[in-house]
Amino acid sequence: MEPDPVRAGGGKAVFLNNDDRSWSLPLRGAHNPSTGAEGTNPGSFAHAPDIGGPLSFSSPDTPGMPEPSTRTAWDFLPAGWQIEKSGPTAGCGGHNHPEIGEFIRCKTPEGFEPITQLESARLGIITPEMERVAERESHLTSQQVRDEIAAGRMIIPANREHLRHQLDPMAIGRASSTKINANMGASPVSSGTDEEVEKLKWSQRWGADTAMDLSTGGDLDACRLALIEESTVPIGTVPIYSMIIGRKIEDLDHQIILENIEHQAAQGVDYFTIHAGVRPWHIPLIEKRLIGIVSRGGALLAKWMIMHGEDNPMVTCFDQICEIMRRYDVSFSLGDGLRPGGLADASDEAQLGELETIAQLTEIAWTHGVQVMVEGPGHVPFDQIEYNMKLQRRLCHGAPFYVLGPLVTDIFPGYDHITSCIGATAAGYHGASMLCYVTPKEHLGLPKKDDVKQGCIAYKIAAHAADVALGIPGSRDQDDELTKARAALNWQKHFDLSFDPDTARALHDEDLDVDTDFCAMCGHDWCSVRISKEIQQFASGKADGFDRGASTRSAALTTEQQEILEKRGVLEPSEIHKLASKTRKTMEKEESKATCHSDLVDDHEAKRMQLEETELSDGIAK
Ligand code: SF4
Repeated sequence: MEPDPVRAGGGKAVFLNNDDRSWSLPLRGAHNPSTGAEGTNPGSFAHAPDIGGPLSFSSPDTPGMPEPSTRTAWDFLPAGWQIEKSGPTAGCGGHNHPEIGEFIRCKTPEGFEPITQLESARLGIITPEMERVAERESHLTSQQVRDEIAAGRMIIPANREHLRHQLDPMAIGRASSTKINANMGASPVSSGTDEEVEKLKWSQRWGADTAMDLSTGGDLDACRLALIEESTVPIGTVPIYSMIIGRKIEDLDHQIILENIEHQAAQGVDYFTIHAGVRPWHIPLIEKRLIGIVSRGGALLAKWMIMHGEDNPMVTCFDQICEIMRRYDVSFSLGDGLRPGGLADASDEAQLGELETIAQLTEIAWTHGVQVMVEGPGHVPFDQIEYNMKLQRRLCHGAPFYVLGPLVTDIFPGYDHITSCIGATAAGYHGASMLCYVTPKEHLGLPKKDDVKQGCIAYKIAAHAADVALGIPGSRDQDDELTKARAALNWQKHFDLSFDPDTARALHDEDLDVDTDFCAMCGHDWCSVRISKEIQQFASGKADGFDRGASTRSAALTTEQQEILEKRGVLEPSEIHKLASKTRKTMEKEESKATCHSDLVDDHEAKRMQLEETELSDGIAK
């Protein structure tokens, strides 16, 4: 609409100049993430999908960011392996080499039998686990999953022993959806096996894609085995924790390391955090830091190196560790023992020096046929997150990056699931493949069950927000469906589509336990969604197959919903009881307007509902 001519006074707006304020949207790189192609967003601003190439799903690079590596795991084949090139019709056993654009197969030493997913992928084999991943990631084919694994950009952490139990294979890599990890494990002062198994199941309920057993107390062996047997998600551990139970760190030697790793691999652990990146020459760099080393594994190994005057024992027996891990197909999670523990220490020489070693270890692990992901920080100011993600992408040739947060500010203890969720969203968008959750108890104590839920939800938000922004096909479908239900004032569908329906329903009913064409936030007269529905030119609110119809009383609160309101402590127990014990009778609305505008509640009725329902009086709420 053209503005009115400039006029001083007279009640008209005054436009002071004629500067050009037109704009155009930047190029959209991704396909429309709504598979139904019905979304109002024509696409993501991220790079166009590049599955099979180094960018996969990737944010546009800010100028100055490190370019992707030109190498992949194909450049680090085991000794004795050769790449044979052939035509695309040369039969089975070969597959597309995305980097060179040719159909290839590998020639292996006589009698070689693949064990790991990486070895199978290199040989062109599509394993049942790759098939399962393609089922779960509907935008990927099993061939694409195989080729991403062969390139080292994706892993399936699935120990062959764990596959005998309930493990449901999943993938971590930038071509797949962003994953989240939940940490659990007893400490010397709190919790036990039963409690940790309960937390595991709770974390799975709230969307954890993997879980790490970080136990440092109680019966570590029993707890680990119980978690493996009970989990449908991959289990990761930090084996050095069990290596020093009952002994001093200085007594650690190669034999203890290898025995523990073999034992945990045989139990079925799917990925190991191995802090092999910390080297003696990194230690003096720590002196400049505000908070030194905050990784337990990193601190223990630094102490070992100082006391022995030798290199990191995880490095000196790295080849043997690889051989053990290959036999069970345990994946590496190369640990960041020197991750920053505060904003001031982020991106410092120690952190980035360790990353260089980790990149070299990635290459060595690939030559052993072992799958690799790389761990990252920690605490990073928001503006440094993209650089950290893209530096790892370059140095580690696209190996999946698994980051802890990062927290983008240090001054909100008790809320670090939020401070880190902000950083995790940026990390996911700029290249991280898995986000390790942080709970409200971070830095303060061992997470309890509700902390696990809060951490999982914060990280599902981060991962999902990143996937939508990256334009991963289908990632926005549920958002669009929920938006339609919201526009139609279809409350039940609104809740059914939400990630946590119990909380959404409980919070709605806390104020107004009637599903009608407004809610207690704005009230009837101010409900913009209801008013929009009345504007015929708008398509909003016209959901197929749904008519708001008469207002309906919401169902009685479930036990879970009751508990949610009890914890909030806003309502009296008697008021919650009233919400929980009512019947499903519908409101009597025969006399109300039944127009297509769905203005179901006349002014008088609306006022009465707002007064009576919000106060839980003896009116229609009974
Ligand atoms: S009352 Fe306000 S918050 Fe509630 S549905 Fe209407 S516009 Fe949305």
